[in-house]
Amino acid sequence: MEQLSGEISDGRILDAMAHLAYDDIALPIAAGQTISQPTMVAIMVEALELRRSDRVLEIGAGSGYQAAILSLLAREVIGVERIPELRDSARRTLKRLGYDNVRVELAGDALGRLEDAPYNAIIVAAAAPRIPLGLLDQLETGGRLVIPVGDRSEQTLMKITKSGEGFSTRSLTGCRFVPLIGKGAWPEDGEG
Ligand code: SAH
Repeated sequence: MEQLSGEISDGRILDAMAHLAYDDIALPIAAGQTISQPTMVAIMVEALELRRSDRVLEIGAGSGYQAAILSLLAREVIGVERIPELRDSARRTLKRLGYDNVRVELAGDALGRLEDAPYNAIIVAAAAPRIPLGLLDQLETGGRLVIPVGDRSEQTLMKITKSGEGFSTRSLTGCRFVPLIGKGAWPEDGEG
């Protein structure tokens, strides 16, 4: 219940949601977004093949739930979130729970975060119409990108590995994510 609560202060709403906190389902958070189903988080995080020394970029930090999991497996996690309200609440939740190797920043114009690149791993928690080339540039050699790619209603979870020779791409599983918004994604109001 503590972890689910975020910035919600109405006890009746907390009570209404509390029994769902340990179910393996996606849950609503603020601003019409969702926390991914825990099993999907597990599949994505496993695919990243994290080492303790890795620096990870998460695009779409949302509630901070997935960032917390990443922080237990990597050296440093940088989350970016485009909705300021969610950025603020993720920051507060992660701080309150003592995850001190995680930082959550507001997303800038470019997809990802050039300021802290390159990363050993990049995980995208929202769907894209294609693999964003700008994110491949933000990967270290040997780095992994995990991202749902498809249309607005259905996607395939893709894993892209960067080597000295180029990139290898693998399809992992079917999935449904909220859409990525901004550069390299769909325009906010139009069709993709
Ligand atoms: N990983 C989150 C769930 C994320 S839902 C968790 O564990 O709770 C997807 C999130 O991606 C939403 O919060 C949405 O605001 C954010 N998002 C969408 N497009 C984005 C972009 N271009 N950059 C950063 N965040 C983005």
